[in-house]
Amino acid sequence: MRGVLLLLLVLFAFVAVACRRPAVAPPEPPPTVTVKKTEVDWKAQLSDEAFHVLREKGTEAPFSGKYHDDHAPGTYVCGGCGAKLFSSDHKFDSGTGWPSFYQPIDDKAIAYHEDTTFGMTRTEVMCARCGGHLGHVFDDGPKPTGKRYCINSVALNKK
Ligand SMILES: [Zn+2]
Repeated sequence: MRGVLLLLLVLFAFVAVACRRPAVAPPEPPPTVTVKKTEVDWKAQLSDEAFHVLREKGTEAPFSGKYHDDHAPGTYVCGGCGAKLFSSDHKFDSGTGWPSFYQPIDDKAIAYHEDTTFGMTRTEVMCARCGGHLGHVFDDGPKPTGKRYCINSVALNKK
C-alpha cells in the first residue's frame, strides 16, 4: 500500500513538472470559450484599438470611449463575438471615464481571471464565449451587488 502511495506521489510530481508551461506561454483561454480564431483572424476582423484591448488585454484611455457617457437604453455585446454581456439597466456613472456596470446581463456570459500585472491583484473580466478581454471588476460598486465592472468601450458594441 505504501508502495502504491509513493508511486502515485512520484507520478504526480512528474506530471506537475511536465505540465508546467514556460512563463512566456500565453494564458489559457477560459474553458467556456467556443469562438476560437487565430490572432491573424482577429486582427483582420477588429480595429487596431479593439484588437489591442480584446486580444492583447490593453486599456483604452479614460473618457475616450464611445460608451462611458452613454445613457440610452440597450444591450452591450462583445466587440469580438457579439455575445450579450451587459445591459443599460445595470449601467451607472462611476466617474472613472469607462463604462461601468454593477452586474453582467448573465453570470455565464463572463469569465474571470486573477490578474497580477502592474504590481496589483485585480480580477480580469473576459467574454466567456471568445475569451476577449473586457476590463476588470472591483468591489467598490453601488447596490445591489457592490460590484463595479469597469469595461473598455472599444470591447463593446451596442444593440
Ligand atoms: Zn466575445
